[in-house]
Amino acid sequence: MHSTLDARDTRPAGEPEFHTVLVVGGGPAGLPLAAVLAGGLWPWYRRSAAVEHFYGPLAAALAGGTETLLALDFRRVAARVRPVDLFNALHHPGGKALPLHETGLEFRPGTALDCLLLSREPVGGLWNFVPSNLLTLSPAHWMEFAFYPIAQWAAECGRSLDPDALIGKRDLVDYYHSVPARFGVTSAIQQPVDVFRIEPGPLGFLVSARRADGTVVQYASRYVVYAVGQRCTLRRLGIPGEDLPVVERHYDTPEALPGDRVLVVGGGRSADWAATELHDAGRDVLYVMRQQEGSHWRLIRESLHLPYYARLGELLQPPAKLRAAYGAHVRRIEPDGTVHLEQSGRRWTEWADRVVLEIGGTVDYDLFHGFPPLTLVEKYDRYRFQCHQVVTHAHSYESVDIPGMYPGGYLAQGINNVVVSMHGTTYAIAADILQKEGILTPRWSLP
Ligand SMILES: Cc1cc2nc3c(=O)[nH]c(=O)nc-3n(C[C@H](O)[C@H](O)[C@H](O)COP(=O)(O)OP(=O)(O)OC[C@H]3O[C@@H](n4cnc5c(N)ncnc54)[C@H](O)[C@@H]3O)c2cc1C
Repeated sequence: MHSTLDARDTRPAGEPEFHTVLVVGGGPAGLPLAAVLAGGLWPWYRRSAAVEHFYGPLAAALAGGTETLLALDFRRVAARVRPVDLFNALHHPGGKALPLHETGLEFRPGTALDCLLLSREPVGGLWNFVPSNLLTLSPAHWMEFAFYPIAQWAAECGRSLDPDALIGKRDLVDYYHSVPARFGVTSAIQQPVDVFRIEPGPLGFLVSARRADGTVVQYASRYVVYAVGQRCTLRRLGIPGEDLPVVERHYDTPEALPGDRVLVVGGGRSADWAATELHDAGRDVLYVMRQQEGSHWRLIRESLHLPYYARLGELLQPPAKLRAAYGAHVRRIEPDGTVHLEQSGRRWTEWADRVVLEIGGTVDYDLFHGFPPLTLVEKYDRYRFQCHQVVTHAHSYESVDIPGMYPGGYLAQGINNVVVSMHGTTYAIAADILQKEGILTPRWSLP
């Protein structure tokens, strides 16, 4: 995070570059908005046997529509069904992977809007930097955008892929990377660009960002979609030695990590993956986490349908093949790899060639200056605190505090942290912006 002073000192002269919409973040939450807004890719309801089977009354209500679904009156729709659930039902009727022509959606050309996406990383968000061999928790089709079924992508690029099976990071990133060119929105995406300040501007928003060469550029817009994800600021342990060369803040593969003895610090899914994979690659692993054994085992037990959790459960079951220290805290790390630990008042040291930190991140809302404070709520999954979400209008996912600001994906109140649960917000956000711009009129609803 950059301080206010840095931002002011480096502010460039000249007019900011104007775009009607700025999307900050090119992950699974931000990227589809570029296709729908900049690419003018509008969803329409199309009769589908699966939608009729699973959601008969919804199918009957939508069958009479003669306009894009973006022209729905979402205030009235939201009184019946959450917009995110409406689009999810049409995209995945019955939770199944379907080819596009069998879903309840078809996409037709609409009016393209001046929308620019700015992101620190290539599109695909955090998937660019997760471990190379990581498998998803969800079937592949849960990770896809409604307008581009992952099975269609696989067929187009000649890959063999089962949309109902878990998908590996490499395929998933390639899928996301293919989207800009496939939908003609490459020029609507700028990266690497680091947005460090968002403040009120004459047209709505003034956004300051830094390019890779350090130059600062300013943008003005009427709307901002803030889709920066849960990891925009990586968490820190806040202990002496945390920045030593022996400490790795990013785990990729066992081959890329030198040394035999590895201490993995974490307790979430990323750390679980790293500890398991390193153990199976023949490393001597100590897995250290703050949480208690019971809470870790709850996650493991409920995830045993995933092959890598079945393996972790096997490794941690007594007599454990993988050493784990629960309720433990790292207090200090020394340059030679000595790690000072504490667990219920007991202090001891371990020695490791490498210390891998997989301790997650937080959402950074401090970029907003000069606006009313955002109302935030705490979001928990079944196991732990996930992130602070922004309180939004139910029909549009627009912040109740900052008009024109839309938290992307699961940064909006009540949205779950999986792509399948967040993707539907794309269309409600796009609809709200297109309707505010007068390009569409909210003319129809569900009876
Ligand atoms: C290890 C792991 C495994 C997961 N597994 C699954 C799974 O199997 N299935 C599933 O559905 N979900 C899974 N998730 C949830 C995950 O959050 C989503 O899959 C998804 O990547 C979230 O999308 P996003 O666009 O909200 O955020 P991200 O993917 O994090 O993308 C946000 C983007 O915004 C950029 N950004 C942040 N701040 C700025 C800034 N100031 N300026 C410019 N750009 C910025 C970031 O660099 C990043 O590229 C997993 C998450 C993790 C961490």
